[in-house]
Amino acid sequence: MSNSVFKIAALAGDGIGPEVMREAIKVLRAVEKKFALRFDITEAPVGWAGIDAAGKALPDATLALCKLSDCILFGSVGLPDRDPSIPKEERPERAALLRLRKEFGLFANLRPVRLPKELAHACPLSKERQGDGIDMLVVRELTGGMYFGQPKKTEDIGNGHLRAIDTMVYTTPEIERIAHVAFKAAQLRRKKVCSIDKANVLENGVLWRDVVTKVSKQYPDVALDHMFVDNGAMQLMLRPTQFDVMLCENMFGDILSDEAAALAGSLGMLPSASLGATSGEQTFGFYEPAGGTAPDIAGKNLANPIAQILSTALMLRYSFKQNAAADAIDAAVSKAIANGLRTGDIYSTADPTAKKVGTREMGDAIAAAL
Ligand code: NAD
Repeated sequence: MSNSVFKIAALAGDGIGPEVMREAIKVLRAVEKKFALRFDITEAPVGWAGIDAAGKALPDATLALCKLSDCILFGSVGLPDRDPSIPKEERPERAALLRLRKEFGLFANLRPVRLPKELAHACPLSKERQGDGIDMLVVRELTGGMYFGQPKKTEDIGNGHLRAIDTMVYTTPEIERIAHVAFKAAQLRRKKVCSIDKANVLENGVLWRDVVTKVSKQYPDVALDHMFVDNGAMQLMLRPTQFDVMLCENMFGDILSDEAAALAGSLGMLPSASLGATSGEQTFGFYEPAGGTAPDIAGKNLANPIAQILSTALMLRYSFKQNAAADAIDAAVSKAIANGLRTGDIYSTADPTAKKVGTREMGDAIAAAL
């Protein structure tokens, strides 16, 4: 990565992917003008677009491009109508998405959940529980824990009975590196980390709590507290505004990040970042909307491009360390919403100031607000 040219592999994928990617690139071009940055953006096919173009969900040329880039801006892949026509291991989610996660060692998943006051109607919680608006970040460990631990098998134990075994396993370095990600992210926010575990029952929980506490000593400006996962699930519903950064191991994070996501009302509002190792100044990252290809609304100018656009803000913040430009994108999105612009997924007839717009119009308004 040079000082001023950031190399981005833009993989739009299937369904609404190309529509929302187009708006994200539009916003990045507006950022270039305002902040004197340069983005070298190369688009390449992935998912069914990859299969149609080159016979594979992750074509060799697309993978090669990713390896030459500073980060990947991803749309989404998979089409439920076509996926069953090919073997599981060749399908886009496995052959492209999981392959890229593995290839680039993406061990940290960051999911910001923000509910602006104007979208209170889209949240399942009462207005009083939303306080001044929900604004939190779930940091989830992505490559360890129960999903990958060995042994992992189902065995015959006789008499017609089976036994299934999954193993929860974490090492000190694995916990340390995700804890550093959470504390560093908190330093860019309200400087609070709530670490989630089950230390009252699990050996993993005891080690997790111990290691996170030790790492916290290196971040005296960040306040740390711990919460058992069952209470965490409850507190998200009762008082979500208490959370700034929530730090979780893989499975707890999988569950709690989706619970937290429900608070934002629409998948179309939720970006995510998956980060790999940092060497020097550079962190390789994979940035994508939390939702999928939404085939029900694809190609109709109906998709909300905000999740994809906010993914570019995460990219600027975490891979390129361009916090001012990232803040400007966040602010431009907030402005478009404050001005009443709504795609169908966040529109409510109860709000007389709301104006229903399409994917393109929302992207135009956000680019213009920059
Ligand atoms: P989905 O997220 O695509 O859609 C679920 C619902 O949310 C739909 O009603 C959709 O219209 C809506 N939605 C999603 N994003 C939206 C947006 N930006 N604006 C407005 N509405 C939006 O989930 P699904 O229907 O279960 O899956 C469809 C396909 O996407 C499947 O093939 C699935 O495998 C794939 N998928 C891919 C990823 C990924 O690439 N990371 C993630 C999830 C699902």
